[in-house]
Amino acid sequence: MSRKYVYYFGKTKAEGDAKMKNLLGGKGANLAEMVRLGFPVPPGFTISTEVCKYYYDHGEKYPGELTGEVKAAMEMLEKETGKGFGSAERPLLVSVRSGAAISMPGMMDTILNLGLNNETVTGLINESGNPRFCYDAYRRFLQMFGDVVLKIEHSEFEKALASVKKEKGVKLDTELDATDMEEVVKRYLEVYKKAGKEFPQDPWEQLWMSTNAVFGSWMNERAIKYRALNGVKEGDLLGTAVNICTMVFGNTGDDSGTGVAFTRDPNTGERKFYGEYLPNAQGEDVVAGTRTPYPMTRLHEINPAAYNQLLDIFEKLEKHYRDMQDIEFTVEHGTLYLLQTRNGKRTPYASVKIAVDLVKEGLISKEEAIMRVTPEHIETLLHPYFTNETLESAEKLAKGIAASPGAASGVIAFDPETAERMVKEEGKVVILVRPETSPEDIAGMAAAQGILTSTGGKTSHAAVVARGMGKTCIVGCEAIEVDEHAKEMKVNGKILKEGDWLSIDGTTGEVFMGKLDSVKPQGLEGPLAEILVWADKIRKLGVRTNADTPKDASIARGFGAEGIGLTRTEHMFFQEDRIFAMRQMITSNTLEQRKKALSKLLPMQEDDFYGIFKAMEGYPVTIRLLDPPLHEFLPKEDEDVRDLAKEMGMGYYELKATIEELHEFNPMMGFRGCRLAVVYPEIAEMQTRAIIGAAIKLVKEGMNVIPEIMIPLIIELEELKYVKAIIVKAADEMIREAGVDLVYKVGTMIEVPRAAITADEIAREAEFFSFGTNDLTQMTFGFSRDDYGKFVSHYLEKAILPTDPFQKLDRVGVGQLVKMGTEKGRSTRPDLKVGICGEHGGEPSSVEFCHMVGLNYVSCSPYRVPIARLAAAQAVIKNR
Ligand code: ADP
Ligand code: MG
Ligand code: MG
Repeated sequence: MSRKYVYYFGKTKAEGDAKMKNLLGGKGANLAEMVRLGFPVPPGFTISTEVCKYYYDHGEKYPGELTGEVKAAMEMLEKETGKGFGSAERPLLVSVRSGAAISMPGMMDTILNLGLNNETVTGLINESGNPRFCYDAYRRFLQMFGDVVLKIEHSEFEKALASVKKEKGVKLDTELDATDMEEVVKRYLEVYKKAGKEFPQDPWEQLWMSTNAVFGSWMNERAIKYRALNGVKEGDLLGTAVNICTMVFGNTGDDSGTGVAFTRDPNTGERKFYGEYLPNAQGEDVVAGTRTPYPMTRLHEINPAAYNQLLDIFEKLEKHYRDMQDIEFTVEHGTLYLLQTRNGKRTPYASVKIAVDLVKEGLISKEEAIMRVTPEHIETLLHPYFTNETLESAEKLAKGIAASPGAASGVIAFDPETAERMVKEEGKVVILVRPETSPEDIAGMAAAQGILTSTGGKTSHAAVVARGMGKTCIVGCEAIEVDEHAKEMKVNGKILKEGDWLSIDGTTGEVFMGKLDSVKPQGLEGPLAEILVWADKIRKLGVRTNADTPKDASIARGFGAEGIGLTRTEHMFFQEDRIFAMRQMITSNTLEQRKKALSKLLPMQEDDFYGIFKAMEGYPVTIRLLDPPLHEFLPKEDEDVRDLAKEMGMGYYELKATIEELHEFNPMMGFRGCRLAVVYPEIAEMQTRAIIGAAIKLVKEGMNVIPEIMIPLIIELEELKYVKAIIVKAADEMIREAGVDLVYKVGTMIEVPRAAITADEIAREAEFFSFGTNDLTQMTFGFSRDDYGKFVSHYLEKAILPTDPFQKLDRVGVGQLVKMGTEKGRSTRPDLKVGICGEHGGEPSSVEFCHMVGLNYVSCSPYRVPIARLAAAQAVIKNR
């Protein structure tokens, strides 16, 4: 079978089409497609990406057939245009362009006007009768060829051009006449000589050297980096194609010009033609910024016929490609030519708006629209952001792991107390900078505008809590050195002190010096709200939220949450007025003492639950009983220990000893979760009373409350039976006494492998399951989510693990436990409701997995609810 390497596009024949992007590159495939559609495209041919691959596989050599195929294509081009490549009478000029299957902007500069030399330029003058244009074209070619192919310093050409302008006493290129341009050509040729390079007068030599340069550019540093940054793996693409295209000239006078246009506004998505036009210019003038282009209306004034033809083509192109297009065109002596079309890049907002509008215009289906919006789009739409303009002039200090999106500027505080004080008492906006955060920092984190830590990964405490709060956060920013005691940080050779301004971009992980202005996004309104309603109709998974406060609950409801999948009761204990009672409870030596402390906490908790139930009226609310190891609540500072000892009537050293004793060696695996309820049943009882008490109040007020009490860290049926009995006894007693109608459920988290394995047993007592995939991942892997910087990052770098399992649910390991647990659970309780409440609940690939294994719902932080709604619908569409 003989292989084909060159594909022609023109009136004679169009050998490619839009589907052949892999082989012809995006540019080549779309040029061929436009020819097929009958649009005015200058004819040409494309050397395929396979040649690029061959070139690298064979030590920078071409397949033997290539020369012949290129010659044949050129002959066809000569026939179609009636010109000759290298002809002194009617010279055929071409552009040599690069183009891979994906657009890699600015990878290699295009060479225009190839085929010109000292002889053909005279031919062109005779033919066109316009020497100014011809010398301008020639000098442009000399500059591009010298720069791109022979790597002569760009500035040398600039200098030569400037010297001619200076001698003539003019500022603009357009003010130079034919004689001046001829002079520029002479000086450019001298630039070649001075650089010790020879300008090839032979057009074929020009063509092959340029082709080599295009293929050579595929492996230059810029290109390799670009692909790495955009997640394109080496081997994903064959390489770049080379497009050789007959020149059309926008620089032949005022009835010519060149432009770039979008079929819709790429910033707002509005359906209006948006673009720029530059009369008497060649393509690169628009991009280079040497001359300021005009809005498209200018073309309408100069040449209404061409303008209207363009509008008509826009319409047809959009219909054909069913997406917004980004188009390059040139007008030569009043005649319009198209040189490129592609799906246009756009802002996240525009991307959602355009998808929704295209549905309304009948061009795409709702499903397609849903697939075109990405979770990242939604993420940026819901958080404040720095505009590109702001970022351009910003001084970047470092880059960490982007943990929670948004943009925040504030003065630095290095400890949570100072952060709180600065905000509450001094009215400042604060960025909390810490080596890492712990539950003790919650108040400071809540007060801060943004959080920056030097250690930790995407699911570290700082990251999880910040996302929950919807706060901008960067973690694992190893380039900063935080000295909490000296109240300063070192970064990039600079020292920043408490009170200095700092800005962080939680979407990119970048840290900037000083104060930057940010822009507030639109909430769930307009096209985003609309497309999510479509998503809701398609998705099978329910979407709940993780919320610890009434405020979070109502935010999440605004984002479309259908209930709460996880309320962490411990967060309520960290507030200042409560932590003391909590500490008393923990350090109590007798049941008496403990019950007294618990009775102080009870009304506070009841209040909390009342607020949360109310905010989620009509939807289920899952409340988890106390989960963390008790020592997390204990005082660390000496002063606090003394205060507590006094209150408790204990000696300082006695209390110290109690604290020591409570300290967990490995806080992940010890005395926590339902173990606390087994040892101190009175804690579970108090929490049940608070939950049911709040629910009864609301029922009496005529509201619909659906409480679900969730027991954490269960490993065994008997254990569940024991704790459930405490809950049921207290709850039933209260409901009976109140004489109300209240249905509640008692269920369990599945977050220890043993629970997943014995799920059929556990489901005999559990009325629902919720997979706590943070812990389940930790316990299945045997490493902690705070290990990211220590070694998990190395596992990713060395490709031992494909992704961070704390971020993306590990489908083959942890995921199998989820699947098995669900199946086993339903084998003994067929109507078992199963959800997930780990951080994975808002991560698109994990959401897809939850859909695939038939979970009932996912639960995630309020700001991820819209993402989960979208991802759940995308999962249905993808898995049809
Ligand atoms: P890029 O991939 O960077 O967009 P292109 O090859 O598309 O590079 O184009 C660079 C500029 O040169 C564009 O403005 C384009 O329209 C113009 N151009 C490319 N080929 C031709 C041609 N044959 N005739 C006229 N202008 C051209
Ligand atoms: Mg282009
Ligand atoms: Mg857990």
